Amino acid sequence: MKLEKYIKEYSVPHPLLLDISSIMKTSEEPNRCSICDKTAAKCTCAGCKSYFCVKHFNEHRQQLSMKFDVDIKNVQEELLTQINQLDKPITPSAELLSQIDQWESETIENVHERAVKLRYQLTELVNQDRNQLINQYKILTNEINTLKEDDDFAEDDIERLRTTINQIQISLEQLITPSKTKFILVENNEIDWNHLINVEEKTKLCELM
Ligand SMILES: [Zn+2]
Ligand SMILES: [Zn+2]
Repeated sequence: MKLEKYIKEYSVPHPLLLDISSIMKTSEEPNRCSICDKTAAKCTCAGCKSYFCVKHFNEHRQQLSMKFDVDIKNVQEELLTQINQLDKPITPSAELLSQIDQWESETIENVHERAVKLRYQLTELVNQDRNQLINQYKILTNEINTLKEDDDFAEDDIERLRTTINQIQISLEQLITPSKTKFILVENNEIDWNHLINVEEKTKLCELM
């Protein structure tokens, strides 16, 4: 008996028809639209993994598009007005800037004072021998004058004075000959400016993702 005729005559599904539908259900469940429950759900949403018929898939896309505008686009525009307030760089506080200014002027003053002191010390150092020689010469002259005035000298005085004069001559020669002058070094220990003063952040904004 043909299938159509059987259904008409008995008004119940043909056993074969039942079998086929049950086999279809267990082996290959048709995707149903999550909105209208139709089995012809040909579209899946990659985001929520739901199945849709074409009509409801288009509706789903429209809803998503509206949600995007409300949740993202509108909020982004609000954010823009706030971000626009950041178009000028932020000026550090006057108090912090003045701390750096103060450090700068104090440091310049300290460096200047140190340089003045060093120039004085260096001048003292290079004149040390000169001043000593001039002083020795004065003492020698006084002694010679005294001995001569008093007419109070003997061979040993002449001998001794002669030795002193020789020593002064040798020293004088050393002093005026550039190759024989004392070697003076300006020792400069480099300043670690980064450790002398620096700025650092004590609190941070929450981490941006
Ligand atoms: Zn549907
Ligand atoms: Zn979705």
